[in-house]
Amino acid sequence: MSRPEPSHTLPDRSIYLRRESKVRSYCRTMPRQFVKARGPWMYDDQGGRYLDFLSGCSTLNYGHNHPVLKQALIEHIQNDGIAHGLDLHTQAKAEFLHTFDELILEPRGLDYVAMFPGPTGTNAVEAALKLARKVTGRNLVIAFTNGFHGMTLGSLACTGNAAKRQGAGVPLDNVVHEPYDGYHGQGIDTAELLERRLTDGSSGLDAPAAILVETVQGEGGLNVASAAWLRKIAALAKRHGALLIIDDIQAGCGRTGGFFSFEEAGIEPDIVTLAKSLSGLGLPFALTLFRRELDIWNPGEHNGTFRGNNHAFVTATAALRHFWSDGEFAGEVSRRGEYLAERLERMAEAHGLETRGRGMMRGIVLPNGELAAKVTAACFDRGLIIETSGADDEVVKVLAPLNIDDEIFAKGLDIVEECVANVMSEYVEASLEVTK
Ligand SMILES: *Cc1c(COP(=O)(O)O)cnc(C)c1O
Repeated sequence: MSRPEPSHTLPDRSIYLRRESKVRSYCRTMPRQFVKARGPWMYDDQGGRYLDFLSGCSTLNYGHNHPVLKQALIEHIQNDGIAHGLDLHTQAKAEFLHTFDELILEPRGLDYVAMFPGPTGTNAVEAALKLARKVTGRNLVIAFTNGFHGMTLGSLACTGNAAKRQGAGVPLDNVVHEPYDGYHGQGIDTAELLERRLTDGSSGLDAPAAILVETVQGEGGLNVASAAWLRKIAALAKRHGALLIIDDIQAGCGRTGGFFSFEEAGIEPDIVTLAKSLSGLGLPFALTLFRRELDIWNPGEHNGTFRGNNHAFVTATAALRHFWSDGEFAGEVSRRGEYLAERLERMAEAHGLETRGRGMMRGIVLPNGELAAKVTAACFDRGLIIETSGADDEVVKVLAPLNIDDEIFAKGLDIVEECVANVMSEYVEASLEVTK
């Protein structure tokens, strides 16, 4: 029997307009139909090739369809390995846990137990919040300005962005947003401000169940928390009986160098959330890790049909073995991150702009969101997929694959440099016109 030709031979995309909800977003600024991807490259149905500096918002840290990860999954499926098993014990789960234990937890001296929530990042955050409130018997959570933690109600309450919060339709409560590191500019230590509020019995701030923080704010504009600030936050959480939750969903899995983004600060969070690049192949998979003493869950108390994705266990195990069996990969990421920093600094200097970020998670701050959107659109026209971040979407954010070839990386950054230069000179000319 012959099968119909795949629809990618037909460039008609009207089906999306007719049948897909208006909630769609990335596809609006990148209106192509993609058919294939390999390493840092994506291909559309018109023969177009794109260099991917978005990497599924840091879900594809090892690039698209990494051959080692893909092969592991193909073999698993070929051998009728378990695809879905609720939270039953499976060989794939055991291998993942053994590998995670041996390559990630033990070498770092972290005695966490692993909870498999539903497969997306927001599930991991919801589980973390629920556990912190259950353990402490408190309901208030301290999150930070510009934080992003997901779109379900609990996580959304911790998210700062007004446009995202507006979608909730109900009050988002039991969370306060305190100023993140650097929010009030240099010279104002926001960890000290928080300490003062927590210590002052009349500040109006209730004793918190948890302090939830990203070490680098992925969606919130690549603001970086210094190691010293993180250590202060960790210490004050402890002092005030609150659990420290590091949301490492975007900054973790090597994006900032080490497997966990908090390693550099030398802190040991009570709870850690991981998702995005954990499966390594782009399969949905999330993990909530916490100190053994906190494991007071009743069986099934936080349940879900897709807890642990067996296909993702297989690819995550392969990714850990391939990239994390020694320190070489982390070193490579740091080296590339330094190169990225230099390139962005040069662009920023040329146009009086600012850079932000850490490791392979960095960007350049345009004067406003409109200009940043012009830069990303111009990049897309030249075959580079790149997105913005920040309160006003004003930061052009480079999230290249961590294992990208140096020469390809340089070429992609050439495109960013050229587009920033074009957009900025147009902008400067236009403002001169106005003042004439
Ligand atoms: C993406 C992200 C989330 C939410 O993950 P989803 O898989 O989109 O639910 C939570 N926290 C951070 C820091 C993220 O970057």
